[in-house]
Amino acid sequence: LPDLKDKVAVVTGAGSGIGRAAALELGRQGARLVLVDLKDERREQVKAELAAMKAEAVTLDADLSDPVRVQWAFDEAARAWGRLDIVFANAGINGVLTPIEDMKPEDWDHTMFVNLKGTFLSVKYAIPHMKEKGGSIIITSSINGSRVFSNFGMSAYSTSKAGQVAFAKMAALELARYKIRVNVICPGAITTHIGENTHSTPELRKIKIPVQYPEGSMPLEHGPGKPEQVGELVAFLASGASSHITGTELFIDGAESLL
Ligand code: NAD
Repeated sequence: LPDLKDKVAVVTGAGSGIGRAAALELGRQGARLVLVDLKDERREQVKAELAAMKAEAVTLDADLSDPVRVQWAFDEAARAWGRLDIVFANAGINGVLTPIEDMKPEDWDHTMFVNLKGTFLSVKYAIPHMKEKGGSIIITSSINGSRVFSNFGMSAYSTSKAGQVAFAKMAALELARYKIRVNVICPGAITTHIGENTHSTPELRKIKIPVQYPEGSMPLEHGPGKPEQVGELVAFLASGASSHITGTELFIDGAESLL
């Protein structure tokens, strides 16, 4: 039977890719959802997909880098359903991909604000609503934040993703006293819309990137993973089946990071 019945889950970046797939899986397992995203139609579409499977959801418009909006979103989420048990802090961007010498300070900041500060804000403003009963927080980092540093132009992205891993571990330590578990997932390449948020520069395209392994091939399967595969991992980490797992970094990459 679904383990997540009556639980309330906030998913950030819920309108697309990994966030959408996780929201659908959490809904399938009985959770009530709060879908946070910048993009209106995508958020509403996921709400309709959930409704089609008889899962309930509310949608909220918030830019994760804006403290006022993030606090509002978590307060509103808890108000809408009367509780908060699960947070999937997932929204993220590739941002501007360019070598360090060409990186504009404001482009560096933008990636940090969305990916890293957005994660901090999501956890910070969830705590007041979770500290009495406990719960589970899952953060989306990347293999780029932990062991794959092969691409030119990804210094800001990789730094933000590495920061999320360190932050998740500190949060796990601090929040254990409230029985809030915090884990961080590190996907390899997954088929999503993230490329739409990527701004590559002509300088970058001129550089020959030292590729460590044949593009698109992975030991476990040919080509990238599917968002649904990540959604299942998120539901596991949200559920009681992972009750003794916290502060852990989980790779979900078909062994891409071992190449
Ligand atoms: P995606 O672009 O398909 O979805 C991301 C969603 O986040 C979008 O709906 C977007 O509107 C939303 N979003 C972006 N900035 C936001 C902001 N400031 N406030 C609120 N919402 C915002 O991308 P995805 O691939 O599903 O990415 C989800 C997470 O997975 C990201 O953190 C990304 O770094 C990580 N990731 C993705 C891959 C991959 O290959 N796709 C690999 C490793 C890690």
